Amino acid sequence: MTQTDRIPGPIEGIAGVLKGVWTVFTNGFKPRVTRQVPEEKLDYPTRTTGRVFLDLDACIGCTLCEQICPNGTIKMATFAYGKKEEFEKKYPNRRQLYPSVDVSICTHCNLCEEICPTGAITLEAEVDEVHFERGNMRYTPLMLSKKESELWEGDKK
Ligand code: SF4
Ligand code: SF4
Repeated sequence: MTQTDRIPGPIEGIAGVLKGVWTVFTNGFKPRVTRQVPEEKLDYPTRTTGRVFLDLDACIGCTLCEQICPNGTIKMATFAYGKKEEFEKKYPNRRQLYPSVDVSICTHCNLCEEICPTGAITLEAEVDEVHFERGNMRYTPLMLSKKESELWEGDKK
């Protein structure tokens, strides 16, 4: 009989149980290390390439972001957004085309941000895309312009 085949005696059994109880007892008084996401926010470095955001005022509907996106995450959508006159002159979007993004398949490659000629699309330090419905993971242009916490509130209702 090898050492590993040996059946433990009652002393070892009791010691094992006590060790388990001691582990549970000591860890019960330690501070929690898990967080309730998304209610509890984590701080990410400002350079984090997290969720895609869209500045509706700066988007000119050129579709470059859709063309460069390597996996079809971005699809252009028609959206009747009324820009203020100053933005309409500087960043006209005559076809009313803006990107929509399926945040569940975005690889955060940053190509869309790099190619955007006006800086309208950016990847920000936010990574809390949490929704109950999978269909809610394709963000409309309007959703892309909002913070995740605002969308989360809407999803819970
Ligand atoms: S970060 Fe990459 S994968 Fe995500 S939307 Fe932009 S181009 Fe597409
Ligand atoms: S987000 Fe930028 S690249 Fe994409 S359509 Fe608008 S202006 Fe063009």
